[in-house]
Amino acid sequence: MFSSDEYDVVVIGGGPAGSTTARYVAETGARVLLVDKRQELGAPIQCSGALSAHALHGADISPTEEFISAPIYGFRVYDAGGNSTRIDYRELKPEEYSSQPLGYVVDRRRFDRFLVNQAQQVGAEVHLKTEAVSLLFREDGKAEVELKQFNTVHRICATVVVGADGIQSQVGKWVGLRTHIRLSEIASCLQYVVEGVETEGLLEIITGHQWAPGGYAWIFPKGNGYAEVGLGVIRSITDKDARWHLENFLNHSPWADRFQKAHVVEVQGGGVPLAAPLKQQFTDHVILVGDAARHVNPITGGGIHTALESGKIAGEFLGDFLKKGISPTAEHLSEYQQRWEEAQGKMMRKLYQLKRSIFRNPLPERDTLLYQTLASYFHPDSEFKKV
Ligand SMILES: Cc1cc2nc3c(=O)[nH]c(=O)nc-3n(C[C@H](O)[C@H](O)[C@H](O)COP(=O)(O)OP(=O)(O)OC[C@H]3O[C@@H](n4cnc5c(N)ncnc54)[C@H](O)[C@@H]3O)c2cc1C
Repeated sequence: MFSSDEYDVVVIGGGPAGSTTARYVAETGARVLLVDKRQELGAPIQCSGALSAHALHGADISPTEEFISAPIYGFRVYDAGGNSTRIDYRELKPEEYSSQPLGYVVDRRRFDRFLVNQAQQVGAEVHLKTEAVSLLFREDGKAEVELKQFNTVHRICATVVVGADGIQSQVGKWVGLRTHIRLSEIASCLQYVVEGVETEGLLEIITGHQWAPGGYAWIFPKGNGYAEVGLGVIRSITDKDARWHLENFLNHSPWADRFQKAHVVEVQGGGVPLAAPLKQQFTDHVILVGDAARHVNPITGGGIHTALESGKIAGEFLGDFLKKGISPTAEHLSEYQQRWEEAQGKMMRKLYQLKRSIFRNPLPERDTLLYQTLASYFHPDSEFKKV
């Protein structure tokens, strides 16, 4: 049962964006409720879990075995024929990275649970299997969220509602924010967790329309002898689904020999928004964070780092905002987006333009540009390395 029928902040969605928002705002002493419709956080897994050490550090998280599956020391980016650029930080910057990793592959089940635990430890109240089904605005100026929990609907009041409800965000739609996303900007992703594929501490990224139209394929270490082999495709430019492309990649690509002994132990999939961040991410009583606001890197499809960062910005903003005791009008909440644009938005919009400029080209120029862009993206001198 809920401890109250009124909170300062109700966060809808317990992924990295929601739990990070809840943690930072609860730390300021605000009354915070976080709900997630899933019965188990992070499950079923719909993510490869690659993120930089820098991303964890930025969200004040110490890397721990509790959620890390494998350490990462760099990248290897391939063109469609198998030529590659190796960006191994152990060789490029041995003084920094011979003993500590550049990043990690995390287990999203354990990572999401860890993040929500952190929010609980600073006072956020968390309810799973609790789905937000509608949002109303009352005459007394409060927002009212209808929460369905085990077939019972509860009405909970909030000063501010945070939509952290992922790519299919309903919260944004309920309040009329322009969350529509074109099919041509959603990567349809599928990955197999496999046993029997060798990896060497690098995130391997395979470009080429032939293998992953509109996206790329990947081979990531997963630790304990496991690897993740997957890809993302844009369905509007291929008449085959992600599964067909993944099987094609596994069986007919220049990497097929590596997969001969592979056993699939898990199948995971989901959509990634490769769109521009929403023009407006707030309205009266409501802000959006993470995938819900399209806070996803449109070149790499990475959204964990950006979810943690936007969650931190949102949580800190809400803490400051609530202390002022002013009404949560769109005008007053617009400062959240100003802070986000300053920290992340400018770079993400630049990346979106870069993506568009690549995919505007015909083949084979598009393939060459994507390969070159990703090969330089992960280089130590890249202006984008930390996004
Ligand atoms: C196959 C795949 C691989 C990926 N690999 C990577 C990677 O390696 N690195 C990376 O950085 N990113 C990766 N991503 C992207 C990353 O997973 C997302 O960007 C990230 O999870 C976004 O976090 P979020 O908190 O915004 O949303 P989510 O993690 O999607 O969390 C949203 C939460 O909201 C809950 N919810 C939704 N609606 C409601 C409701 N009405 N009521 C209550 N709860 C609700 C959901 O149950 C969910 O728990 C990948 C994505 C896919 C699909």
